[in-house]
Amino acid sequence: MPAKKSTRPAARELLFGDLWEYDPAPESAPAFIEPRYGLFINGKFVAPKTRKYFDSISPRNEEKLSEIALAGAADVDAAYQAAATAFVSWSKLPGTERAKYLFRIARLLQDRAREFAVAETLDGGKPITESRDFDVPMAAAHFFYHAGWADKLNYVTPGRTLAPLGVVGQIIPWNFPLLMLAWKLAPALATGNTVVLKPAETTSITALKFASILQDAGLPPGVVNIVTGAGETGAAVVNHPLAAKIAFTGSTEVGKSIQRALAGTGKRLTLELGGKAANIVFEDAPLDQAVEGIINGIFFNQGHVCCAGSRLLVQESIAEEVLSKLKVRLKSLRTGDPLDKNTDVGAINSQAQLDRIRELVACGVAEGADLYQPACKLPEKGFYFPPTLFSNVAMSHRIARDEIFGPVLSILTFRTPEEAVEKANNTRYGLSAGVWTDKGSRILKMSTELKAGVVWANSFNKFDPASPFGGYKESGFGREGGKQGLLDYANLI
Ligand code: ADP
Repeated sequence: MPAKKSTRPAARELLFGDLWEYDPAPESAPAFIEPRYGLFINGKFVAPKTRKYFDSISPRNEEKLSEIALAGAADVDAAYQAAATAFVSWSKLPGTERAKYLFRIARLLQDRAREFAVAETLDGGKPITESRDFDVPMAAAHFFYHAGWADKLNYVTPGRTLAPLGVVGQIIPWNFPLLMLAWKLAPALATGNTVVLKPAETTSITALKFASILQDAGLPPGVVNIVTGAGETGAAVVNHPLAAKIAFTGSTEVGKSIQRALAGTGKRLTLELGGKAANIVFEDAPLDQAVEGIINGIFFNQGHVCCAGSRLLVQESIAEEVLSKLKVRLKSLRTGDPLDKNTDVGAINSQAQLDRIRELVACGVAEGADLYQPACKLPEKGFYFPPTLFSNVAMSHRIARDEIFGPVLSILTFRTPEEAVEKANNTRYGLSAGVWTDKGSRILKMSTELKAGVVWANSFNKFDPASPFGGYKESGFGREGGKQGLLDYANLI
């Protein structure tokens, strides 16, 4: 008897196809954003001496969220003076006392987690599910972790103890504003330093909200100072004579200019810069898990991740199968309003970043790679870019070499493990890599041969405060997190 032809969609389409319509599910908790923020200096919000403010807009819909103070050199100087004065007593506090402040900060952040998640999403464009389930809890976890170390600094290295450096200047980027603040502040405070911190100009709001947590925690004035502004303010933070160390996360170009500026000054420096990570999938890998890891590796936070798995290296024998699985999976990603709880890919952080992504994608097409984008309706206002795959990519293509910092995956193939290592390491960066295989021995071999600060095995984008993070080559130097991260904020005595 001939089989009856079904009119129902195949099970796979029902699971992954674009057939389901979702109703909007916007997050409604208030973000409590002030119409205007001053600078946070010596425990108080103060007006900038420049008397200038700039607008912070939401990439979600281009609406103005707040006005942010523009700090000039005199403001940065006031912040350093406050930090230097505070250092005298903060550095002498017993570790148990510093730990109390850090625990308090962590708990206060947990108490206000939802409010901070909404503010982060409005200001930066990342999906609310990510700011709610990743950025804010992870930021709190960093304070908890470092609170635990504050009174155990003589156990970090046998026979030695850690002494603070002094005032540290910290400059952070826009992709994980609150989390990068936590990565920087928590180890600096645990080891007894005081801080002048500059958030990125497009995403200053959660740092300024965080200042109110510092006030509520009773942190002594001047221990943390927050100055806002763009590159010029950052340069003033770098060049201030009271800075004992600069910790910078951002682009490789700016990192290099900071390194040049500090050469010969005796100031300590750590740099966490760009990346072009290889996510390597062998033919014996659990493919469905690998596909989820690839998707997470490149579309998490719209690909605005320095350790994003932006180069997929897939073994030739399974390349077609992986590509077709990825295409099906891409159709189910929801791109749009980051405040909607169903959104997977939110807004691109700024018009400038959107322009850069468009330029590099156009370059990929012009160079002959095959572009795939699922059909999706993007919001009319705001900055959005659809999830994008490029197959048939060659190592010489710009999309295989330059950091795109957007939701764009370049797919290359390899035949042998040696070729995978060769291609993975053939980059000026070295921040992270992923290896997908059934064989533990291969994971160990690959992880010793890959020149990357972090190698994830059968996973991607996994973070923990106890696990040091940092780069090789033009991805920078120094580590954040773990014991190694503490050593970058201290002298061994
Ligand atoms: P991105 O590509 O992530 O925008 P940037 O390196 O431009 O990276 O920005 C990262 C951080 O560095 C931001 O806080 C930015 O304001 C700051 N910054 C930009 N230019 C300079 C500079 N010349 N000196 C110090 N900081 C800077």
